[in-house]
Amino acid sequence: MQRLRLELKGETDRSYDVLVGRGILNDLHREIRRIGSFSSYGLVTDDSVRALVAEQLQANLRSHKINSQLLSFPPGESAKNMEIVLHLCHQLVARGFDRKSLLIAVGGGVVGDIAGFAAAIFMRGIPYIQVPTTLLAQVDSAIGGKTGVDLPSGKNLLGAFHQPLLVVADPDVLVTLPVEIRRDGFAEIIKAALIADSELFSLLENQGSNLLANANEVLEIIIAKAAEVKCRVVSHDEHESGLRRILNFGHTLGHALEAASQYSLTHGQAVAAGMGVAIRFSQKWAGLDQDEADRALRLIQRLGLPTRLPGDIHSESLLSALEKDKKIQSNVCHFVLICKIGQALIQPIPVEELRRRLEEIKN
Ligand code: NAD
Repeated sequence: MQRLRLELKGETDRSYDVLVGRGILNDLHREIRRIGSFSSYGLVTDDSVRALVAEQLQANLRSHKINSQLLSFPPGESAKNMEIVLHLCHQLVARGFDRKSLLIAVGGGVVGDIAGFAAAIFMRGIPYIQVPTTLLAQVDSAIGGKTGVDLPSGKNLLGAFHQPLLVVADPDVLVTLPVEIRRDGFAEIIKAALIADSELFSLLENQGSNLLANANEVLEIIIAKAAEVKCRVVSHDEHESGLRRILNFGHTLGHALEAASQYSLTHGQAVAAGMGVAIRFSQKWAGLDQDEADRALRLIQRLGLPTRLPGDIHSESLLSALEKDKKIQSNVCHFVLICKIGQALIQPIPVEELRRRLEEIKN
């Protein structure tokens, strides 16, 4: 088991542990007791993860004298809305939860974002912990305290920064994860490697075609290394005023691509294509050499993810999606690029240059 620490120094010390290890969910009761004592416990999950993980976790906690109540909602991004948060809060009131209650988010990024947001606003903020059950959530969304829900007009438009007291990532729960969702998680892991960890990149490269295998022995190390990148970046910049923006590598264009394709691409596919473009931009504007660019593109492709923009997506629809997403200001778009594998920088690119370059890349 690896015990990472996300250091957050402010007026008070809100630092917390991020634990990564096979089988550690069996010891969740011990970790909960380490962080405090609580008046009641709510396991917040979705209707799929409920049967796969949460019910067993509830029984395990009960056998160690921690009685919790299960609260679940339908799975998927469509549940990430204010109605679900309100319903959850009504249930918390009805079941007698108070300011000393602990919420435990058990699920993927959607569950983590919803439960974290409910914890941020219920009675002006109650404590919660994250038990991520998708690869993406284990390496990314469960860490860093960004919580929120979508509005019909856009993703993540309502939200709050609310840090968890603990993150517990057990790779054993990933065995039931469909390969498409596993792939999406790997897109985030490759991102972490490209922006901040060349050793992780080599580890991924050396895995060959084994990467997506369920029984991959090094998965725990890979998750811990990628989670460590997220901890490091958030420690330096909790509220995304500077360094945290490098986590958007591949995402600036990825989000535009998701919108322009009417969400027909998965998040991982869109981010992968966005990273493919960002890698080519990095050769032009950040001095990334050909060999490293080829290695980065090969790794993405080996996972079965795209590195090019889909043929039916036009540069103009991407530019207007960037505009709508407020990514273009004063005719300039800020892109995260890499000058070498493991080192990121932020580069302002004028819209006209961007348009030209997108066209060149397509042809
Ligand atoms: P998700 O939470 O929708 O999970 C994907 C699917 O996998 C769901 O149907 C879920 O029920 C199922 N699932 C979860 N765990 C499983 C398991 N162990 N076995 C089988 N099925 C399982 O999607 P996600 O990719 O985990 O998260 C995406 C969300 O995360 C988006 O809403 C995105 O905005 C958010 N996000 C948030 C942050 C942040 O910093 N807060 C960062 C990145 C992404």
